[in-house]
Amino acid sequence: MENEKESTLLLLVTADSETAGAVAFHLDYNQFCLLVVKKIGDLFRFLEQNISGIVMLDAQIPGSDEFWPAFRASSARLPVILITTRELKLDPDAQYQVDEILYKPLDFLEMNKRLTALADMIEMERRLQGEQRPSPEEGRPKILLVEDSAVQRSILTRQLTEHGFEVLPAADGEEAFALVRSARPDLILLDLMLPRVDGLEVCRRLKASSHTASVPVVFITSSRSPEEKIKALECGAHDFLTKPVTQQELLIRIRFLLRQKQLVENLAEQARKDPLTGLSNRRQLMSDLSLEMERAKRYGTPLALILLDVDHFKRYNDTHGHPAGDEVLRQVARLLTLNVRAFDKVARYGGEEFVVILPQTDLPGAAAAAEKLRRAVEGHPFLGGETQPGGKLTVSLGVAGFPEHAGSVDDLLNRADQAMYRAKAAGRNRVAVADPG
Ligand code: GH3
Ligand code: MG
Ligand code: MG
Ligand code: MG
Repeated sequence: MENEKESTLLLLVTADSETAGAVAFHLDYNQFCLLVVKKIGDLFRFLEQNISGIVMLDAQIPGSDEFWPAFRASSARLPVILITTRELKLDPDAQYQVDEILYKPLDFLEMNKRLTALADMIEMERRLQGEQRPSPEEGRPKILLVEDSAVQRSILTRQLTEHGFEVLPAADGEEAFALVRSARPDLILLDLMLPRVDGLEVCRRLKASSHTASVPVVFITSSRSPEEKIKALECGAHDFLTKPVTQQELLIRIRFLLRQKQLVENLAEQARKDPLTGLSNRRQLMSDLSLEMERAKRYGTPLALILLDVDHFKRYNDTHGHPAGDEVLRQVARLLTLNVRAFDKVARYGGEEFVVILPQTDLPGAAAAAEKLRRAVEGHPFLGGETQPGGKLTVSLGVAGFPEHAGSVDDLLNRADQAMYRAKAAGRNRVAVADPG
């Protein structure tokens, strides 16, 4: 079931009652509520109250040039959509701070789409708050530009290159498919009207392939008809730009989409990870393990699993406190990662239990790997380790393998778990391999 979403506040800043009326008439009230502000000064009085929402600023409001300095000086971090005209030049200051841009006369399909995208972005950023962000991808963002007109192609290429993007030009769909495979672009700008295979078809094919489905596609269209745009969005495009595309619109839209793509990737990453240790979580472990099991069966290769549990961890927590216990778990995670091969996968199974998947590893090999991990933990100077039974912090490990012990993921985990309990029963700080049969 979908969560009931709270509506997002839209602060429309305009002195023009026609614009205000039109926005009020067309706004999607399932998602937004509207507050019209007629003076820049009034807006800042609202912003002082720490509200969240989206600012939609009419560039033609009197005193609009005072907006940016004041906005920067305020503590408000709301996204801003600028409503302007194609003729009005943006000052360079604004160009870097506007999140989205819309031109008069407003296209209301477009307006609601931009607003939805911004509201989603606010929500994603909220969910990622406190997460350390993975650093943005290295190097310049790569843009695949599919445009059959040589003139248009060279104009857009120059504009994008000047602003720090790497451009891969393609004159038709076939060239685009070849480049997509070899160069992995971050975003695709796609002309709707192309010779032979048209833009819609190119987009459909890109979206049908798992390698390219996640790359955002932006259509460039000369058509103002809403039907065309709806068709473009239906075939999986993220967005569209209407010709003549102004440089400011091009840059603002591309930056927005790249930011959105990064956020989506970060959220997907977050869903796969254990927040405490940064290792794969149980969900990701199960999916990796299923994949490795399939592979082992298909190619007739062995597959081993180590299940590892911290000894007397309750005692450690009771003596040193939960935060110190957390730090131990982080350090164990790090030791495991440092002491396995690159193809092995380490995951947090739950609480103080970890799992290592060892593809293409037989039982003797896995037992040796487990012994190496046991020693790495035993030899590590954990803070306060001396208060543990035996004078140091240790782990017990169980090993099980395919095909010897199990033919399914669940059985393999069970057998490794049983072996781990035998290691505990035999005195802890040791490795036990599952019984044969
Ligand atoms: P054994 O040697 O038999 O494994 O003893 P144990 O004390 O490690 O086992 P037990 O299952 O009794 O206790 C596990 C402890 O692990 C209790 C729980 O509070 C602690 N623990 C589980 N998850 C976390 C965590 O995320 N952080 C911290 N600090 N402690 C955790
Ligand atoms: Mg064309
Ligand atoms: Mg346990
Ligand atoms: Mg334990």
